[in-house]
Amino acid sequence: MLIRKIVNITSTIAGVLMIAAVSFNKLPWWSLLVLAFLWLFITAYGVANIRSGYFLKSLNNNPKFTEKKIAITFDDGPDPNTLKILEVLNTYNVKGTFFCIGKQIEKYPDILLRIIEENHIIGNHTFTHDKLIDIYSTDKFTKEIEDADTIIEKISGKKPLLFRPPYGITNPKIARAVKKTGHSVIGWNKRSFDTTIPSEKVILKRITKNLKGGDVILLHDTKIITVAVLEQLLLFLQSNNFTTVTIDELFSIQAYA
Ligand SMILES: [Zn+2]
Repeated sequence: MLIRKIVNITSTIAGVLMIAAVSFNKLPWWSLLVLAFLWLFITAYGVANIRSGYFLKSLNNNPKFTEKKIAITFDDGPDPNTLKILEVLNTYNVKGTFFCIGKQIEKYPDILLRIIEENHIIGNHTFTHDKLIDIYSTDKFTKEIEDADTIIEKISGKKPLLFRPPYGITNPKIARAVKKTGHSVIGWNKRSFDTTIPSEKVILKRITKNLKGGDVILLHDTKIITVAVLEQLLLFLQSNNFTTVTIDELFSIQAYA
């Protein structure tokens, strides 16, 4: 957030000075274009990378964690495939953190309840997870978070305090919405790309490479391939003496109000 302020102030000052220089023919006009592209490039990087902390503070991993404990997170459920994920987690006695979508909860309330009954943690992942959600106004995005909270609370009696932005995208409107709702924003530092990569091996390699205590893995409980990846991951964790914790434990924060 501080970096963003520095970038914006520096760009504005540079822009004003350059306009003056261009008008006195001291600089070519296209130098302003270069500045505009540079600003756009940095801002786009901040939008697309939740870990950059460009617009808001998110918890992506806990480097202070010296023990070999990591957190596994699942996005976009509940979904019938979530049941297979829960089975694997049960077999290895592992607890995960599930960032659920409101409209999916409407469809599968029983699966949401089962996640909670099996002592996993639930977080908010907006109500619709719409493709265009990242261009919503602050008020519309705030409503997305509040509506998801409402349905989670209606079905489970729990009001989530953890929130993960869809696609890991952040911008000033989302930052303002989250400030209003007061949720802790949870990112990740091990992205699996299990929604796009078709190979179990490649996905597993991505998430296990240089894995260390305090890391947060992002998976999707909606994907069939993720069931097999999860099983391989849990075997890897076992043979490398890793254990797992839920997100609230990893960051010593509260999952519910
Ligand atoms: Zn998502």
